[in-house]
Amino acid sequence: MKAIIYTRVSTVEQADKGYSLEGQEKECRNFALLNGYPIDKVFVERGESAKTQQRTELQRLIKYSVEHKKELSVLIIWKYDRFARNLSDQMELVKKFADLGIRVLSVTENNEDTSVGRLMRNIIGSFSQYENDLRSERTKNGMIQAIKQGRWCWRPPLGYKKSRDESNKPLPLPSNNSIYIIEAFEVFQTGLYSQADIVIRLRREGCKQMTKGLLNRILRNPFYIGLIKVDWLPEPVKGLHKPIVSEEVFSRVQLILSGKRPSITPKVRNNPDFPLRNFIRCPKCGNKLTAGWSTGHKGTRHPYYHCRKGVCSVNVRKDVLETRFYELLESFQPTQDALNLFEAIVLDVWRAKQSDRIKEEYRLDKELQELIATKKKIDELLIKGVFDEETYRARAEEINNDILIKRVELNEAKIELNDIEACLNYGKAMMGNAAKLWANADLNLKQRFQTFIFPEKIHWNGETFGTTATSILFKQLQSIPNQKSDLVAPTGFEPVFSG
Ligand SMILES: [Zn+2]
Repeated sequence: MKAIIYTRVSTVEQADKGYSLEGQEKECRNFALLNGYPIDKVFVERGESAKTQQRTELQRLIKYSVEHKKELSVLIIWKYDRFARNLSDQMELVKKFADLGIRVLSVTENNEDTSVGRLMRNIIGSFSQYENDLRSERTKNGMIQAIKQGRWCWRPPLGYKKSRDESNKPLPLPSNNSIYIIEAFEVFQTGLYSQADIVIRLRREGCKQMTKGLLNRILRNPFYIGLIKVDWLPEPVKGLHKPIVSEEVFSRVQLILSGKRPSITPKVRNNPDFPLRNFIRCPKCGNKLTAGWSTGHKGTRHPYYHCRKGVCSVNVRKDVLETRFYELLESFQPTQDALNLFEAIVLDVWRAKQSDRIKEEYRLDKELQELIATKKKIDELLIKGVFDEETYRARAEEINNDILIKRVELNEAKIELNDIEACLNYGKAMMGNAAKLWANADLNLKQRFQTFIFPEKIHWNGETFGTTATSILFKQLQSIPNQKSDLVAPTGFEPVFSG
């Protein structure tokens, strides 16, 4: 790494031999030699008099330093007051070079280990830090002010687009994508579909960017009910933007997300004797069967499932219907091979997802670095004198905001890693033992479980069950061939982890 030298003297000082330009340059060169710095260039300021403030060489020095900063490591001067008489101007200049990655060394003062040198370095360091802090504090304060007024300061979330109000301030508006958001909330609040089901559904409908991570963030984001929630404020703030989801739907979704899901059938109708009540449908009228005890000829009571409509005359004994249902579940249980394959596929998809996520993180990080580089360029333009102070401030403020926003985006992209192994083991155990699990579960769990496996209508045909669809999970498993050589995820396959 090379050194540059800057010397300056006034005519008055030249009277004294020790202060001559030649003398300064010689001492600077010796200093460089002693410290092992090859000399790149020497800048000599030939001031006509002490009164002359023009510093053409200093300007050239800064310009040169900006352009060659990569090759330069130190600037050697004879004394700090060669830079400027005023101490704060000296520091300003030292700091400017420090920003370029160039250390200023004085031949006669401030060598690294002297107390003055340390003080100088500390002060300069603190100043830079203070300035940076102040800048981000100002931006943050500005943002808090804006948020308190209900303004969203970042790129709007999916379902909204950037727009401005009458006073030309940012105000997000619902976009064409808002239909997907509304649908996601509406479908999820029923408690009948997993997030993975919804992701598949939305993608099929054209919302290609939907992922499970994104959906999860969406379902938890109070922005959609018109609130703005940030870490810096204790309470969410009512936003100026128009909500697209009702508070009622949103709170139901939060209950489901937190696991406090209300039972699928209303409590009053629940009866532990009849888990399939209000679930299996009448083959004739399509209504859900109810159940009860009927008294036989000899006064004994027998449990039955039956249609509410007398005309259908559909009656089926509890043990018959439930045994058949148990067998149906058994028939759905995938083989061990299929389960192992399922595990392999999920891991495959999961790894691909992880790498997508890492790519996204990488992209955001790259953009952040580019912004920081742009900011540096703006600083250089100021040093070069291309920008006046005001233009610089405006540009710098803008880019600092962008940097802050990009940081927020980057942090948001860093989703926590799931414990994939535990999820898989749970999933395998659940699917491999569906019938037994159902039989041993309590009423509430039974009902949730059966609704999960058969999210759509299921009829009793008198002998067997008819159903249009089982849960996507079981459907996918059944479509998995039993050969390991076919280790390819079916199109649209998404791992299902409810949560
Ligand atoms: Zn009926």
